[in-house]
Amino acid sequence: MAPEKIESSRHSPARASLLARALSILDAVDLIRLGARIPLICKLTGLEHSTAKRLYRQIRGFHAPAGQAPFTDTWYLKSHQRMLHTTIIWRLFQAFEATSKAAARALIDIYGSYSQMVQNVLLDVTRAAFVPQLLAQGLWLEYRCEYCSLSFIGPENNVNKSCPACHLYHRFRCRLCCAAIEQRSTGRNRDICASCSARRKRRNPN
Ligand SMILES: [Zn+2]
Ligand SMILES: [Zn+2]
Repeated sequence: MAPEKIESSRHSPARASLLARALSILDAVDLIRLGARIPLICKLTGLEHSTAKRLYRQIRGFHAPAGQAPFTDTWYLKSHQRMLHTTIIWRLFQAFEATSKAAARALIDIYGSYSQMVQNVLLDVTRAAFVPQLLAQGLWLEYRCEYCSLSFIGPENNVNKSCPACHLYHRFRCRLCCAAIEQRSTGRNRDICASCSARRKRRNPN
């Protein structure tokens, strides 16, 4: 057989599409193991619905739950902890953008990195996948933290001037001098320490 012939068959469209399909299936297997639902798997891998469903059943041992859970941003906004994890996911998406990886592989790697970075995983893979969509759809915007100057994301009508990490930090540290603050068990949380508060009162007695 002439060498040219081997070369041309190695790069034939049929082989290329077989390889592409095999890679899509491998990605789908990883996504199923991470807990992704069928619509997300099909969207990211391009696999047919029936193939994704069959794979799901074979891997998980039961039928895939029907449809996609309805999505709003309410879940993310429930706590600063969730918003902090959401910011981590968003930063990872930004870092992976430069690698020009396919969407499915990028999400698998981003979710893997996120799971290794945090002690308790708060976002499931579906919620992680939804983070860049919040920005792409213009529902969320990028802001700059007035305390640490790092960027963070939040809803269009965001009223928080500091990022989730600074919010959590200042729950236990004075906003003016960073001294530790003992929070009261009842009533509004203090945001400055007792000495800063006394100094402020001396300056503005009324
Ligand atoms: Zn900050
Ligand atoms: Zn203070």
